[in-house]
Amino acid sequence: MKTLILGAGYAGLATATKLKPTEGLDATLIEQNPFHTFETRLHEAAAHNTQVTLPIAPLLRGTGVELELAKVLSVDLDKKEVQTDKGQTLSYDTLVIGLGSVTNFYRIPGLAEYASELKRLEDAEEIYAWINKAHLPTYTGSRNIVIGGAGLTGVELATEVAQRTDYLSKQLGTEKLTIYLVEAGPKILPVLEDDLRNKAMKTLLDYDIKVLTGHRVMKATEDTVTIQAEGQEPQVIPSGKTIWTGGIQAQDIVKGEKLQRGPANRIVVDATLRIPEYPEVFVVGDMALGKNQEGKPVPTTAQHAGQQGRTTGRNLMRLARGRELVEYEPSTLGEFVSLGGLMAVGWMKLPWNQKLKLSGGLAHMMKKASEWRWRESIS
Ligand SMILES: Cc1cc2nc3c(=O)[nH]c(=O)nc-3n(C[C@H](O)[C@H](O)[C@H](O)COP(=O)(O)OP(=O)(O)OC[C@H]3O[C@@H](n4cnc5c(N)ncnc54)[C@H](O)[C@@H]3O)c2cc1C
Repeated sequence: MKTLILGAGYAGLATATKLKPTEGLDATLIEQNPFHTFETRLHEAAAHNTQVTLPIAPLLRGTGVELELAKVLSVDLDKKEVQTDKGQTLSYDTLVIGLGSVTNFYRIPGLAEYASELKRLEDAEEIYAWINKAHLPTYTGSRNIVIGGAGLTGVELATEVAQRTDYLSKQLGTEKLTIYLVEAGPKILPVLEDDLRNKAMKTLLDYDIKVLTGHRVMKATEDTVTIQAEGQEPQVIPSGKTIWTGGIQAQDIVKGEKLQRGPANRIVVDATLRIPEYPEVFVVGDMALGKNQEGKPVPTTAQHAGQQGRTTGRNLMRLARGRELVEYEPSTLGEFVSLGGLMAVGWMKLPWNQKLKLSGGLAHMMKKASEWRWRESIS
């Protein structure tokens, strides 16, 4: 069974590292980078240049999976072919697609051209370099940094940048950055309950971050962002660095006549994470429209991507051994948001569906523990 696994993110890597050398199973992992990126820690890399990658090859030892470093250019489900930037046309018996998501700029004028994103290591490196440059005494541009989107990524980035600018301005004796966090919705961190959200909000305000909820980003230029609240005049904010974290959508390189997509371009899958019309194809992670026990879409998170990958790894082994597939059973074990340094807020699941809400150092420890668990699971 010739099996291709596309992408070594949380979902693809979890799939690959679940495998064992098995007769009849010939698996190749195709990834554009020789490393796995801890995407959930990119905000740390953007602010502090933290190491957030791990070489993939050693993680595949003992799995029987081959690593092919290439960029996937297209996937044709009808022809059962994958094209790569190395000029290869690869065929498969079974395919696992885990290529993640890309930023959705919602066609807001100027945003795709002028805003940075925070999806890849290069994005983090570019933001880190700008922050350093903006603290030099010779820097003459705007020291405003405007972050669009106050979900998990925007809030985690804003607080980390706040820490960094505190540090750099003290070290170099230059002015601190002014951080704007602009959110179209009425609340920051919509995934959290009010009490935790209020704690997060207090931390943002303590850092002096200018939180503008109920404001839409209307337009970006090289050095401005125009925002507008309902019923009010547009407001132009000078911006030295604009970063858009306000939306994602699934990668759009998979084609198939019968392919069905849902919101944010996510691919419709069945309970075993296969495309119903192409049962030889599994889709995992941000690209998949996995459903929970109530039939609602599971969130696009690393936690769920990892679970989907592990289920799919198990299912590849079962397919090779001629056994029935198991169904994907999503479980949200908790959600933690880091707020710079040792501060975090969030909750963890207790038995009988109870939630334990935490903030401060304990929440920070829990967030770290989830990262350690992830490392453990792929090692
Ligand atoms: C800053 C930030 C903070 C976050 N914090 C959290 C958090 O605290 N908790 C949480 O659960 N989730 C968090 N998330 C969301 C989480 O990171 C994603 O849901 C998760 O990464 C999705 O996993 P995935 O495997 O689908 O995709 P990814 O992890 O994005 O992996 C996709 C892989 O495919 C590779 N790839 C992409 N295109 C190609 C191509 N054409 N050819 C070859 N390879 C390709 C990429 O290099 C990558 O290795 C955060 C995201 C960001 C950006």
